[in-house]
Amino acid sequence: MWLTTTLITAVLAATPGSAGLGDRLYPLLGNGGYDVRNYELTLFHARTDPKQTVSGTVTLTAVATQNLSRLDLDFSGDAVGGVSVEGRPAAFTRDGAELIVTPGRRLPAGHRFTLTVTGFTATPTVPVPASDEMMGFLTTPDGTVLAGQPTAAQELFPGNNHPRDKATWTIALTHPAGWTATASGVRTGTRTEGGYVTDTFREANPMATELVQVAVGDFAVRDRRPAGSTPIRDVVPRRLAGQLLPRLEQEREQLTWMEGKVGPYPFDTYGSLVVDAELGGGLETQTLSLYDTGLFTESDAMGVSQLMTHEVAHQWFGDSVSPWSWEDVWLNEGHAHYYELLHAEETGTFGVYGGLPDRAAYFAAIHRMSDQLRAENGPVGAPRDGDEFFHVFNPNVYQGGALVLYALEKKLGAARFNRLEREWVTQYRGRSASTRDFIALASRVAGQDLTRFLNDWLYGETTPPLPAGPTKAGIGGERPLGGEISRR
Ligand SMILES: [Zn+2]
Repeated sequence: MWLTTTLITAVLAATPGSAGLGDRLYPLLGNGGYDVRNYELTLFHARTDPKQTVSGTVTLTAVATQNLSRLDLDFSGDAVGGVSVEGRPAAFTRDGAELIVTPGRRLPAGHRFTLTVTGFTATPTVPVPASDEMMGFLTTPDGTVLAGQPTAAQELFPGNNHPRDKATWTIALTHPAGWTATASGVRTGTRTEGGYVTDTFREANPMATELVQVAVGDFAVRDRRPAGSTPIRDVVPRRLAGQLLPRLEQEREQLTWMEGKVGPYPFDTYGSLVVDAELGGGLETQTLSLYDTGLFTESDAMGVSQLMTHEVAHQWFGDSVSPWSWEDVWLNEGHAHYYELLHAEETGTFGVYGGLPDRAAYFAAIHRMSDQLRAENGPVGAPRDGDEFFHVFNPNVYQGGALVLYALEKKLGAARFNRLEREWVTQYRGRSASTRDFIALASRVAGQDLTRFLNDWLYGETTPPLPAGPTKAGIGGERPLGGEISRR
């Protein structure tokens, strides 16, 4: 009797999961009512054609966080074949990028369940730089890749598309023999059958959907000597391997340098993926950073080095520690830019930044333009809106975010600031963390309440003075800062 009553109560209380996680910049991104623990994603490339529509299946293992009568996934690809929940067919409809699933039986809070979407299809698009179409499921002359940040992973596969819900992944990629496939994580198997090869990868460290990489095509995959204990593998168009592979070897030094700054590399492998397309920057897809060939044909080789260091730094800041909401993206970009600059200073390559001599001069210049950056883009910790890609990934998040960290370094001193950084990537490894979490940890490490100090820096309409005052050494006047006001 007691059991029956409980069941009835649970059924009566079941409600639909929300269509979004309430992210101010992307209200419909992610979904409420469940927490994904693992994805099993399979993709099928039927032919050696980089423009082809691909098909796939994804199984989510998730835990209900409320009594669920219905739940949404995010998916904006072509078609959906079918949906099942716990092995039983489920009803589904689509509304924009929401895939709305009604299971045959309601899911009680705390219940662990599987949800499988079969026969979904997606067609890659040609990237268009400096537009929203630079990201997504992309076709290149040599194959397909994924650039999912911040919202575009849902173009390829259904999932809970928000960095607040990280999960482990198994990714199996089937393609005609002669092509290669690489995905985020470690290769765990390769099987050939009937002229098709299936490569399987496992990412046992939690990964956000926006950071998934899958590269399938006529690519050369080069396994390199490890960096410390981290295996390195690079992926480039096969026809450009001789030209590109030597340029990527510097990643080993960059990764080792970052480990010296903030501690052990958080994943089981690293590498670079270069595609022959105009992406307009790099992208920190987990364990395999994405670049375009244009970066490596420019004469400015030092700029490539800084960009690669930026993406390496993201593996700690942005990938291992993900943003709780997209307002927190300064924690990704501010940190990546901060370490890119520090690496340049320590390796004597700082001249690439508009001829400025060092970080002090650079940050003095950023400080002078900071009020204007805030007026144009919103404060560092609160980008104005998410309507367009560049509203979120704006210069104030990159240069302004790094300036906030530099101000904190000045206030705390280098040693204590470094302790904060190491504790941040240790305490929140594999998790999602917010600006509030960062302020709390900074206050704890500093032994003083930094809420007001950091709130002024992160949310003020005007820029506070640098704690020690902008250094006068080698001030670069109003010289332009090279290509730095561009996305990475
Ligand atoms: Zn970045």
